[in-house]
Amino acid sequence: MKLDVNALRYLSREDFKVLRAVEMGMTNHELVPAELVDRIAHLSCGGTYKVMKNLLKHKLLHHDSSKYDGFRLTYLGYDFLAIKTLVNRGVFSAVGRQIGVGKESDIFEVATEDGTILAMKLHRLGRTSFRAVKSKRDYLRRRSSHNWLYMSRLAALKEYAFMKALEENDFPVPTAVDCNRHCVIMSLVQGYPLVQVKQLQNPDEVFDTIIHLVVRLAEHGLIHCDFNEFNIMIDDDEKITMIDFPQMVSVSHRNAKMYFDRDVECIFKFFSRRFNLSVEEHTDACDGSGSDIGEPDRPSFSSIAKTTGLLDKQLEASGFTNKEQDEIEKFIEGGSEQKDSGGSDDDDDDGGEPNSYNGQGHDECNDATAAVKLDSLQLEDQNMMPMNHVEGD
Ligand code: ADP
Ligand code: MG
Repeated sequence: MKLDVNALRYLSREDFKVLRAVEMGMTNHELVPAELVDRIAHLSCGGTYKVMKNLLKHKLLHHDSSKYDGFRLTYLGYDFLAIKTLVNRGVFSAVGRQIGVGKESDIFEVATEDGTILAMKLHRLGRTSFRAVKSKRDYLRRRSSHNWLYMSRLAALKEYAFMKALEENDFPVPTAVDCNRHCVIMSLVQGYPLVQVKQLQNPDEVFDTIIHLVVRLAEHGLIHCDFNEFNIMIDDDEKITMIDFPQMVSVSHRNAKMYFDRDVECIFKFFSRRFNLSVEEHTDACDGSGSDIGEPDRPSFSSIAKTTGLLDKQLEASGFTNKEQDEIEKFIEGGSEQKDSGGSDDDDDDGGEPNSYNGQGHDECNDATAAVKLDSLQLEDQNMMPMNHVEGD
């Protein structure tokens, strides 16, 4: 999704008041009636209505009168609220180019006051598949206080909490800097997604490191659940960084073994295909009994000594509760386990942007949305949009 931060600089204090009023209204309304927005925003002399017109023009709000007359935030409106909060907190001061398009997120470079470049991940749950979305939407309907923005916020909170806890346990992950709404700020990984790498100097070593990572995660009580060449970054020294954590589950999850085996399988398949590692004939044997000499054994889930609850304290400290973990797990699973129900979808949360994604859920081994190549890690100054003129508090 295009993120034109230019408009952000010209939004007034009143504009943000109204955006926030709509956000508040959305905690218990799918669409927020204009009168309620006005009551919450509390602007003088009917100012709310004028402001809403402006926000609609900039596509920060969406007007819908199909069921009843009301308004909701678009993702862009939500982006602006998060960016403004983080800029006001001093977390960063400029937004740069887009460096990644994930299945359910957009990633941008941002710069701090002292010129450090960080990565900003904006979660966009529900945009991947307008097919899987149907089942997710049904799930949400049954819980009227929930909506897409809420789920994206949970995804961001979970990602932030896991990233922090993983780093504290010496896992190679980006450093979690801050989090607000659906937005996570983290250190910028100096490398490329493994999927873009055609050749490695030490494919065996890299392979071992990665498999060891899946095993060590399980030993710490966790399964990544989307562990593949799109979510593993590698730098010029062939150092690995793992990213993308909203779908992680505990080893005590009822499908834990299946998720673990699938993560392992993705890595075996990828290394076999891309780097000719001789593992292909044994793709069905997930029992650790690799036969031929020189072929790596598959780690077996049952033989790993797993410590559950090890990271729980750290996760809780980051503000991510078990209840929230439960909610987001159901949401993510709800979409991936359902069959395609076909038909059209009118619930475009970007306020009308075409969906260019391929309908694969988080559970697919083959992430078909290739990331944008990080061809130059050096930012040109003119690409950065300073945010120092953002108004309001
Ligand atoms: P999604 O959950 O939508 O798959 P990811 O977290 O996998 O999103 O990010 C999508 C892409 O953005 C990655 O493949 C990578 O190219 C880029 N990216 C994500 N996080 C970072 C980061 N911290 N530093 C550099 N690039 C990143
Ligand atoms: Mg990803």
